[in-house]
Amino acid sequence: MKKILDYDEMKELLDSLDNNIIKKEEPIGFSNFGYPIDHYTYGNGEYHMIITSGTHSSELITNIFVIRFMEKLSLKEIYIDPNKYTIHFIPFVNPEGTIIVTKAIRSLIGKNISWDAEQTYCLTFYRNCRIEGIYSNSLENHDVKLEQWMFRRATPDILGEEHKDLKMSLKKLYEDNDLPIGSMINWSSNGRGVDLNSNLESSTFIDRIEKGEAIYSKLHLGNIRRDKLGPLGCPYYEKKGDIEPENKALYNFYESIKNNHKLIGSLIYHSCGDIIMYNDDLTFKNPWQEDFDSKDTFKNKIVAEKYASITGYKLDKSEIYTTVDAKLKTLYPVSLLIELGSVTGTPLSQFLDLDIPGSGVGFKNVYTNIIEKNSKAILEVLPLMADIYEVNYE
Ligand SMILES: [Zn+2]
Repeated sequence: MKKILDYDEMKELLDSLDNNIIKKEEPIGFSNFGYPIDHYTYGNGEYHMIITSGTHSSELITNIFVIRFMEKLSLKEIYIDPNKYTIHFIPFVNPEGTIIVTKAIRSLIGKNISWDAEQTYCLTFYRNCRIEGIYSNSLENHDVKLEQWMFRRATPDILGEEHKDLKMSLKKLYEDNDLPIGSMINWSSNGRGVDLNSNLESSTFIDRIEKGEAIYSKLHLGNIRRDKLGPLGCPYYEKKGDIEPENKALYNFYESIKNNHKLIGSLIYHSCGDIIMYNDDLTFKNPWQEDFDSKDTFKNKIVAEKYASITGYKLDKSEIYTTVDAKLKTLYPVSLLIELGSVTGTPLSQFLDLDIPGSGVGFKNVYTNIIEKNSKAILEVLPLMADIYEVNYE
């Protein structure tokens, strides 16, 4: 079965789900160019949990994992007690970015290609990213990257008239900021080039940009500057403190669930690394937002350990406060950030689903492992989150 889905295909799949099981709600907000930040719910129980994906749009596996999880619920392949839990799904935190990156994919990889052709593209992409990772250690790293060169036909012009405003914005970004050819395949930001996860009021990273430092991304992304509006990393549009509408919507949404219901936690999906990042009492120190309530964040550890026992993912509590997700984790215990898949190179390497004899564990059936292990982990951590809530917050 073909693994990659573009934005339109994901929307079609969501529309096809049983609406008695997965209910489409009003969007939690809209992006700069008017795209909805979709919201779906499962169940009517008293314990509310939030699941988000696609903050970084190049991490396409996160959108697809969450949507496949919703599909499993819809098809009754898995079961969560709908009278006990209400699960909120935000499958596209960054719809503009998801449109950009999936249009870039479709500039080379057609909708109707075979499974093995799709796997070959993913493998080539993966290998090209690895090669660029090797080169970056020793050579000048700001030249065009092999994985970008694969997608050199992906220019803003591939966006159709239905995306007119988004297309104009993207064109301007490429012209004004001299963005690398083919870098639409690396797109993680929203449609005006702001990285939603870096879009904080203040951080050490923002301080460096304010000082005029040229900051390049690492490894195979080494020709992308994070201090300029573009594919990834740039924290604000005009001035420090400007918060993008996608993030405003997310903050409002979390706040309204917390204030009106029993919010037992949230799972925030990124890729890649096979890592579960949590805040605990030992590391909690937030230099930017002194009014954060830190007293309960250590409960994250118990849930993170449970999640890790099922997925085999590594735990990581070292957190620097330069991301919106770190802020969410401090505001809303129990919240975990989960990095799906150990293979480098978003958006395509995580769709590899090969079992090549002699390959390392992390490389075998990457896609299937992501979907199956994380689906199981969600089912297992839910009751634990509810218990923690009852013991600590009631
Ligand atoms: Zn990410």
